[in-house]
Amino acid sequence: MTAATTPASKPGQTTTLRPRARLAVAAGRLVAWGSRVVRFGTGSVIGGRVSLLIDKNLLSELTASRNVVIVSATNGKTTTTKLLSSALATSRPIVSNWLGANMTPGIVAALAAANATDTAVLEVDERWVDSVLRATQANTVVLLNLSRDQLDRTQEVRKLAEQWRVALATTPPRTLVANADDPLVAWAALVAPNIVWVGTGQEWTADAAGCPACSGRIDFTDAGWACSRCDLQRPLVDVAITDGVIAIDGKTITGELALPGRVNRVNAAFALAAASAMGADLDQAFDGLDDVREVAGRYRVAQLGNTRIRLLLAKNPAGWHEALELLEGPSTPLVIAINARIADGHDPSWLWDVAYERIGQRFVVAIGERRHDLAVRFRYGNINHIVADDLESAIELVRQSPSYDPTMPIDVASNYTAFQDHLEHVGGVL
Ligand SMILES: [Zn+2]
Repeated sequence: MTAATTPASKPGQTTTLRPRARLAVAAGRLVAWGSRVVRFGTGSVIGGRVSLLIDKNLLSELTASRNVVIVSATNGKTTTTKLLSSALATSRPIVSNWLGANMTPGIVAALAAANATDTAVLEVDERWVDSVLRATQANTVVLLNLSRDQLDRTQEVRKLAEQWRVALATTPPRTLVANADDPLVAWAALVAPNIVWVGTGQEWTADAAGCPACSGRIDFTDAGWACSRCDLQRPLVDVAITDGVIAIDGKTITGELALPGRVNRVNAAFALAAASAMGADLDQAFDGLDDVREVAGRYRVAQLGNTRIRLLLAKNPAGWHEALELLEGPSTPLVIAINARIADGHDPSWLWDVAYERIGQRFVVAIGERRHDLAVRFRYGNINHIVADDLESAIELVRQSPSYDPTMPIDVASNYTAFQDHLEHVGGVL
């Protein structure tokens, strides 16, 4: 389904391209191949960069004869891209970068390897929506949420919302699927001509206290949200999720998903709304969602020695808010890992914005480079915890705990680079 893992396997694309673009694609493939040979990763990003050096308009060329959908957000974009890919793959050939990089070079690398007319389902980094939308003239855009992430690296969320708003006004897609419960997304979306509003019941509101239109205060109530000063308010929704039931196009979807948690019902609702806007049959699209059991290692149950662990990813306060839904129920011990490398953001002060108290009485082993920061947070939250040096030691401590249940996989919840380390540790391939 995805071409990201086999960048050199499908030559069909190049036959329709101009000579310069063909050269760019060939050079990118060669560099990617060389990079793989010397075991420098998959090579897709560096290959894409080389291709773009030769032909800076390559993304436009590669998408000229495709139906393109863009998915972006702070949280959930990889999962939603994967769900939408699976939903659409039931009715048409698709190409997606969901397993690869989500900026222009990674997108170019994925597209260059696929047939020229495959529908492109593109995960796009929040900061790259403008340029990817302009280059691809995407028919459909899906915008899930905006929240703080990597405090010391990325721009303020309101700046991102502004960029999205300008991008949508400049290059309006035929259909925009947008989150009605995120004021920043809603404000950015309102300039688009045709919007499918998804009512997500989003509980995380801490990053949208100020109105993006007038800086007034946003009031959140059970019925929705509204600015206390201007007329910005929650739009009427077209797709609703109530107690896990997705209401869309006059149908109600009650079937179970393989992916756990409320947040994945929301991701599925976005995928279905986009698939429907792209002409897919809803029942067929929903069947496709069931094929998704994990996403790039997230939710994977893996064997570590003689113990099973379940890998969970949460990168920022909004992401932890959703992940805690899965962690607050059981009573078995768990492991939480926090790093603060470049890809995580060096500043871990956001740990104080996460309601780790929801873990309740569960015994937690804190690991990762910032395990001591985490331990301080847990101490103030009266969370029963201990610190360990690495994953193996943590698992051993869990196994010695009286509340350990060997019939259940041990939850290992990690932020970004800690998650990648653990996935690699259990032999996961990205
Ligand atoms: Zn306002």
